[in-house]
Amino acid sequence: MDKSTVYDNLPPEFLLRMKEMLGPEYEPFLESFRLPRRYGLRLNTAKISAEEFWRIVPFPVRPIPWIPGGYFYDEDARPSRCPLYQAGLYYLQEPSAMTPASLLPAAPGDVVLDLCAAPGGKATALGAKLAGTGLLMANDVSTSRARALQRNIELFGLSSVIVCDEKPEKLAGRFPGFFDKILLDAPCSGEGMFRKEEALARDWSPEKSESLSRIQKTLILQAADMLRPGGMLLYSTCTFAPCEDEEVIDHLLTERPDMHLLPVDMAEGFSPGNPRYGNDRPELVHCVRLFPHKIAGEGHFMALLRKDGPEEAPSWKEPAPRKASRKEAGEQSLVLSFLEELGIRSLCGRPLDASRLHIQGGKVFYLPAVRPSFEGLSYLRYGMYMGDLKKNRFEPSQPLALALGKSEADAVISLPPEDPRLSAFLRGETISLLPGEAPSPKGWHLLAAAGWPLAFGKLVNGTLKNHVPAGWRIT
Ligand code: SAM
Repeated sequence: MDKSTVYDNLPPEFLLRMKEMLGPEYEPFLESFRLPRRYGLRLNTAKISAEEFWRIVPFPVRPIPWIPGGYFYDEDARPSRCPLYQAGLYYLQEPSAMTPASLLPAAPGDVVLDLCAAPGGKATALGAKLAGTGLLMANDVSTSRARALQRNIELFGLSSVIVCDEKPEKLAGRFPGFFDKILLDAPCSGEGMFRKEEALARDWSPEKSESLSRIQKTLILQAADMLRPGGMLLYSTCTFAPCEDEEVIDHLLTERPDMHLLPVDMAEGFSPGNPRYGNDRPELVHCVRLFPHKIAGEGHFMALLRKDGPEEAPSWKEPAPRKASRKEAGEQSLVLSFLEELGIRSLCGRPLDASRLHIQGGKVFYLPAVRPSFEGLSYLRYGMYMGDLKKNRFEPSQPLALALGKSEADAVISLPPEDPRLSAFLRGETISLLPGEAPSPKGWHLLAAAGWPLAFGKLVNGTLKNHVPAGWRIT
């Protein structure tokens, strides 16, 4: 699309308000709509370090200064075609959109909620920070969008997760004071994304913004009520509209006096929030706005808040392990012997915990480390789907292949990322191997790009038979 089209079609009322907001910075802001958008990718820090990525990445990248593990790439690099992407080593995300999850200090062991999570740009970042511990509850009210979220969570190899499609009010009713950290990346008017998605500019109206503001004010109170004392909430939008930004934070601070804004590290190009838009509360300067003329990314707004209470989280009480029936124990041993055969002893850096195996109707799941009851609530995944039991044998799933990091299995056939057999296999083809490329002559193996597992296959006479499920094949 011709960039001048976006520039020419910006809604006049939006421009008037921006002029009033920005004063002398209005012209540079407007000019930024003539500049090309930036492309970014964010590493899956649970799978790969920046040093390792730098060593193997086969296309040019440049670090995004304010995002650890974030990189710019050029539009023509097509990183989604690279097997390293299919191995879940990075997520493609607009650079400014990486900022909210980077400001929420989720840490291993935390119980984290991403309330409006689809398609998973921020949930995957939070899940990587948890590194297989605690719990990431990734929710989106839209079931179709939650399916895309599930796919990205599985691609990232996250195992300690619940992916759900519940109404926020229902979650709020069930999980009062439960979470250590909550991300609320609210539905918004998307003014910050006009350059990227021109349709948003065409659909924009001040009335829509006001109606979204009402939804955001409800959502932020529900989110605050689900935080434990001492917990932290990150509110974000991709709009500049004060009624969806500072005004929502002011509403929260008025309605929930136990919530307080926290200052964040102001990286170069970050702009403070404006107290004028939220009842002149001085602390609104702790909010952050990203403008496309001041940072190499699109527009965003963020606020980090804390609920009064102790630093320390109350420790999560593990549900008492259920005694497995004889049938269950037999089924579990089929799974465990499969894992042993392939030399799988850990999942994404954590030792495999057999007590987290759960088998239901022949489907095998790896339960999250923290397991709240979900009875009566709608979800797509409770834990990671590991595979199926079929006639006394275990068939591994694609999410299981992706939950394995480098060197977490012995039966690995590793090829360089540029080897065309990797993409052929991901398209659903069988591939031929040369002598010495596979660690053993037959049976189940993981095909890997530079050591990072991509998919399972079965080796027979030098041919790796394809086991990539139809829905996971690349076209
Ligand atoms: N956090 C996501 C990411 O980084 O990939 C983007 C989330 S998007 C900005 C907002 C999400 O809120 C949408 O996926 C949408 O389905 C959901 N949503 C829309 N209306 C909602 C409502 N009334 N209550 C809760 N969620 C809503």
